[in-house]
Amino acid sequence: MKLNKALQLVLSLTAFLASSCGNEKAEGPNSTITITATTGMIADIVRNVAGEKAQVENLIGEGVDPHLYKPTSLDVKALQAADIVFYNGMKLEGKMSDVLDRIGKSGKKVIAVTDELAKDPDYALSGDDEHHPDPHVWMDVNGWKSAVNVVAAVLADYDPDNAAFYNNNADLYAADLAELNGYALDSIESIPENQRVLVTAHDAFHYMARAYGLEVRGIQGLSTESEAGVKDIEDLVDFLAERKIPAVFVESSVSDKNIKALVEGASARGHSVTIGGTLFSDAMGREGSYTGTYIGMIDHNVTTIARALGGKVPTGGMKGKLAPYEHR
Ligand SMILES: [Zn+2]
Repeated sequence: MKLNKALQLVLSLTAFLASSCGNEKAEGPNSTITITATTGMIADIVRNVAGEKAQVENLIGEGVDPHLYKPTSLDVKALQAADIVFYNGMKLEGKMSDVLDRIGKSGKKVIAVTDELAKDPDYALSGDDEHHPDPHVWMDVNGWKSAVNVVAAVLADYDPDNAAFYNNNADLYAADLAELNGYALDSIESIPENQRVLVTAHDAFHYMARAYGLEVRGIQGLSTESEAGVKDIEDLVDFLAERKIPAVFVESSVSDKNIKALVEGASARGHSVTIGGTLFSDAMGREGSYTGTYIGMIDHNVTTIARALGGKVPTGGMKGKLAPYEHR
């Protein structure tokens, strides 16, 4: 990260010198940078940092599981046509790695936004399989700021005339993320301590759990590629009943069949568990809506979890922008 900051500084300085020497390039409508991102969370960073200077498209949309996503021929065209490609990395896009590799080797800038985080021993969590790093780093808002720095540095390098603009936007966005992080800390802390347990369809929430003080259990592992067994479900039913956990959560990009099996299993053992809501794990909400932004996605998750587990949170979440709670 230090290197990253230093790079930004050098780039800003270069941009400053260039502009003070009167070498400013005329900015026309053709200077828009075309960017293709894999997930919505990454596209959202680009929108915040680049503003109108970039046209960004994300390939993996609402409700779609990135672990299983196979690129279409249109996706490959969008990747080839882009000036810059941003992807998550840490093996999130399991079925896209060949295409991303190939396009990277053609000389295009193909950047993993977790480049910095993956080198940080605190962030390369490994789960059930030591060869599969936990890619769900966006669940820890503070950690995700590192992805913002990577995007800003790449944009400033690609378009040095506007380096100061990108860096300033990145700072503004980081301030919003700091506010979001504080809201997440306060909300989870408001849950009675013995109920700070998050049970979900797959293991997407380890970073969130660590950052905000939750115990976490997923039915499926880090990737949704491996199927959950009957034993996994039975073990979790025991856990729910023993710990008297009041709610479990479905995920917008993963089938709810295992979660429903949990609720039925617990009920058969005389313990009533509700579905506390739908969380956005690996994909954001509808494009153009509040939960279709990274901040809205995390606000929704934190607010939904805290409310269902007995915490105290504002009805509309951090910004009063969340729709009234509907049981699904
Ligand atoms: Zn996942």
